[in-house]
Amino acid sequence: MEIAEIIGIDEEDLHGFMRVFPNMWEHEKPLFSPEITLVVNKYGETEEFIFGVYIYTLGSCVLAMFLEYQREFATAIFEIHGICFDSYGMKRDFQFGENRVKDIILRNAGKDYKLFSTIPLGGIFTCPKCRAQYTLRSLRVSPEGKVYCQNCGRLVKFSKEEEESENSD
Ligand SMILES: [Zn+2]
Repeated sequence: MEIAEIIGIDEEDLHGFMRVFPNMWEHEKPLFSPEITLVVNKYGETEEFIFGVYIYTLGSCVLAMFLEYQREFATAIFEIHGICFDSYGMKRDFQFGENRVKDIILRNAGKDYKLFSTIPLGGIFTCPKCRAQYTLRSLRVSPEGKVYCQNCGRLVKFSKEEEESENSD
C-alpha cells in the first residue's frame, strides 16, 4: 500500500485530476506496461468529506485508489493498493503499479500543491503557533520539514524537540 497526500487542492481541481489520471498513466507509461482501464468509479460525500473509490485494471493486475477529501482543509489523501494474479491464480502485491500511481500523483500535484508524507514516529508534537498537540504517528511532514496544523491551519516547522526547547539555558 502507498499513500499520497495533496494539501490545498480545491474540489474542482481534484475532480479534474481524477478525470485526467488515466491519460497521465498512458502518457507516462513505460514501453511494455499495459493500458489502464477504469472499471469502478464511485464516490459519496458529506458536508465535511468526499470519499471516492477508483478501480483500474491493467492486464491481470488491479489497482484500487481510495480517496478521502477533507473539505475544510482542502486535503486529498489517496490510499493506493495494487494486486496481481499469477498464472495459478495466486495473489501478489503489485508494487510497481502502486509506486507508479503515487509517482504520478506526487509529480503532478507537486507543481502547485504542498506534498506530505507520513512519518512513523512515537511521541507528541506541539504546534508552536497554537499549542495544539498531535501524536507523531498521525502527523505528516513535508519534504521541507513542515507540518500542516489542522487546528490553526498554518504550516509550521516540525521539530521533535519542540516540547523541550522551552527549558533551554
Ligand atoms: Zn497550530
